[in-house]
Order: sequence, then C-alpha cells, then structure tokens
Amino acid sequence: MVVTYHRPTRAIIHRKAMKENIKNEVERLPEGVELFAVVKADGYGHGAVATAHVALSAGATGFCVATLDEAIELREAGITEPILVLSVVFPSYLSLVIDYDLSITVATKDWLIEAQKVLNDLEETTTAPIKIHIKADTGMGRIGFLTADEVKEAAAFIEASPDMIWEGLFTHFATADEQDTSYWHKQADRFNGIIQALAHLPRYVHSSNSATALWHDKEMPGNMIRYGIGMYGLNPSGHELPETYPLIPAMELVSELIQVKELPSGEGVGYGKTYDTPEREWIGTVPIGYADGWVRKMQGFSLLVDGEFCEIIGRVCMDQLMIRLPHEFKVGTKVTLIGRNNGQEITMQDVANHLGTIHYEVCCILSERVPRIYQE
Ligand SMILES: *Cc1c(COP(=O)(O)O)cnc(C)c1O
Repeated sequence: MVVTYHRPTRAIIHRKAMKENIKNEVERLPEGVELFAVVKADGYGHGAVATAHVALSAGATGFCVATLDEAIELREAGITEPILVLSVVFPSYLSLVIDYDLSITVATKDWLIEAQKVLNDLEETTTAPIKIHIKADTGMGRIGFLTADEVKEAAAFIEASPDMIWEGLFTHFATADEQDTSYWHKQADRFNGIIQALAHLPRYVHSSNSATALWHDKEMPGNMIRYGIGMYGLNPSGHELPETYPLIPAMELVSELIQVKELPSGEGVGYGKTYDTPEREWIGTVPIGYADGWVRKMQGFSLLVDGEFCEIIGRVCMDQLMIRLPHEFKVGTKVTLIGRNNGQEITMQDVANHLGTIHYEVCCILSERVPRIYQE
C-alpha cells in the first residue's frame, strides 16, 4: 500500500517521548543489565528504523524483532548492534542469518538437527557460526523447550557444533502485567531452575518484557531486558497496574475536517443509512477509514475537534468517516483521533477499550497508508 502523504491524516511520532521512556528504564536497571529495544511489527506501528535510532541514542544496546525480514530491514538501515529474531526462522534461511549477522531463537531439537544439516551444506561458502538463543517455555505455551534437561541437551548440541555459538538463554512471561503475581513466580522459579541446572551460562540470559521490567525489577532473572511497549509510552497492563514512572505516549493520530455541512432533520449518514439526523445537525467529514486501520467498530467513538468530543456517526467507510459537530467549524480544522487537543485527550487505551482489545493491537493495525511523521 502506498503511503499517503498528500492528505492531512498522519501519525505523529514524538522522538523525545520514546527517548525519555527508554532513558527512564535504562536508569533504573540493575548494574550490568542491558536493554534491547523490541521493534517488531514496524516498531509497534511507530516505524522500526526510526525507533531503533532513538533507542540507540537513549541507551539501548541491541534489538529484538519477530521475523527475519524485520531484522534484515534494520541491518539494511545501518544498524550494527546485536539483533535477535524472537520467533523461529526456518533453517533453509540460515545463509541470510549468517550474511546479516543476526542472532536467532531455537525452540526444538528437531530444528537444531535440521539446521546442522543446512549448515553442513553451506560450509564451503561461509565460515561464520550462527548465534543462537535457546528459548525455554516456562509457561507461555508458545515456543521453547519445556524442561531443564531439554535445554541442557540443546546447549550441548550447540556447543559441540563448530557452526553454532550459544549466545543466549531466555523465556517469556505470560502474566507479568497482572496484579496476581503467582503465575509469574511459577514461571520465574522454573526459569531459575533451568539456570541452576546449567554448568555455565551464555552471554545473554533474559526473561523480561516491559511488564516484568516495570513491576518485577527486583526479582527478574537475567542480564538483559526486552523492552517493547513501555518504550512507546503505553502501560503494558492497560489500567490494571500503576505506571512505575510516567510513560509518555509517543504516537498521536491526527487529521482535518475536509467538509463541513449542516444537514436538515431526517437525513441519512453513511453506508446502510444507519444514522438519521434527529434534527438539523452540523456534520464533518474526516479522511480516515478502515483501510487506514481505523476499523468499522470505531463507529460510536468520539474524536476531538477544538477540545470537544464529536461522535463518529454512521458507518466508518474505507477512506472516510463522518462526525457530528456541536456547531460549524472551518474546513481544515484539526481533528485528533489519538492524542491531546485543546485540553482534552484520547489515549490509545481509550480506543482499545472501545474495540474490546489492547492498545498493542491499536498501534499495530494502523496501516502503512498513514504516514509516520517524526518530531522531536
Ligand atoms: C513482543 C515481545 C516482547 C516485548 O513485549 P512488551 O510487552 O512489548 O514489552 C518481549 N519478548 C518477547 C518474546 C516478545 O514476543
């Protein structure tokens, strides 16, 4: 999809906010603990490369992404720090992993066996060993080895291979953002059990997402954290837990009124005519729709115009939507979909609440069509 610059709809990304969030986190990390910035899914919709540069300037020493292509994007943009791919990369792509000097995740013994075969075939053309982080599944049930014995076996396999380096050991918490910490502790105990069962440890041992770093900082295992949502200024728990330090939202979503009109009573608005004006009403049209990631379920939500909340009436179209205005506004008046506007604010969490989801999803689904404009 082409990025649409010639339209007033844009996501404004505040570099200073991200920088502040990362600095605040880096400052409170225990001695010797590093921060890897998680910039998967295009930096949660904030732009992976731009976010990575900000993170570096604020003290991040490495990056995590979800896919091989996301890692390659960072390398192509000139990022030279360690990059860990968190999900499984098929062994058939290992020559790319070597070419781009990436760190990857292993979650099964079968993968190791298959990878060794691929590496044996590659050997004539390449020399660099691949850097591997062993993933332990301590209760997320997603990917990883389940027992300390399996982890030990994987570590032994990697260390016996001249084509592999054991660079990391990690796990992922399922409930770090919840008030009830019992399951978090169960996972931490399992991970600590694995750590203790190993004769020695790799360069990086890591377990913390943002929620763990914010709310379990005194007890989190490892010497590196994988900091994602907190960097973008969003509370990982939504409302459930208070912010450890003020997180500053990095993204605003804004547009403008492109048409303003007064409709007589009894006129229909939008596809399906789901809204009839109950009386004479001022209606404004805003150039954003579900193709921008502003989905149809946003009908009924209110946007900010000059500090006033204006309800989205009728169905959200692919490229446009209509709002009810309290009075006439000039065409070109700013409309805030996420962010502050004349003393009022709409948060990513407000949008998530309306959709019955989490703010992570709201920033990720904002489509490529919306330009990301960077400001200090
Ligand atoms: C996405 C992800 C993170 C970052 O999580 P946040 O909640 O955004 O901090 C960390 N680790 C893994 C394995 C992930 O998939």
